[in-house]
Amino acid sequence: MLFDFKLSTPSQGLIDITGEVQAAITESGVNEGFCIVFCPHTTAAVTINENADPDVKSDFVMGLDKAFPDLEGFDHAEGNSDAHIKSSTVGASETIIISGGRLLLGTWQGIYFCEFDGPRNRKFYVKVMGG
Ligand code: ZN
Repeated sequence: MLFDFKLSTPSQGLIDITGEVQAAITESGVNEGFCIVFCPHTTAAVTINENADPDVKSDFVMGLDKAFPDLEGFDHAEGNSDAHIKSSTVGASETIIISGGRLLLGTWQGIYFCEFDGPRNRKFYVKVMGG
C-alpha cells in the first residue's frame, strides 16, 4: 500500500515523522515486511537519527551548514545550491524493516523529514510491503 503525507516545514530543520510512518504500517495491516519512506523533493531529505536529545537535530543542521555552505561561486539562479547538495548527501529515502506490525528501529532512532530550503509545503510517501 502507498500512503502520502503532507507537512509544513520551517526554514531548516528535522521533523520527526516516525508516528506517521508507524500509522501507515498499522493501517496497512502488514505484520512482517518492510517500508520505504521517500521524499520527492530536491532540497529536502529523509534520514534516521537520534530521537532523544533535541540538540542533535539543531547540531545536525549546523554541521551540514558548515560542511556545505552557500558558496559565492555557485551558478544556480534559484540561489539554493547548498540545499540541493544537502538533499543528495542525506538522501531521498530510507528502508525500514517491519516486525510484529512495528517499525524495527533502535531504541534511540526516529525517522526524520529534513528541510533545507523552507519554509515550504512538502510531502513524503510511505510504501508498505509484506504480509
Ligand atoms: Zn534550486
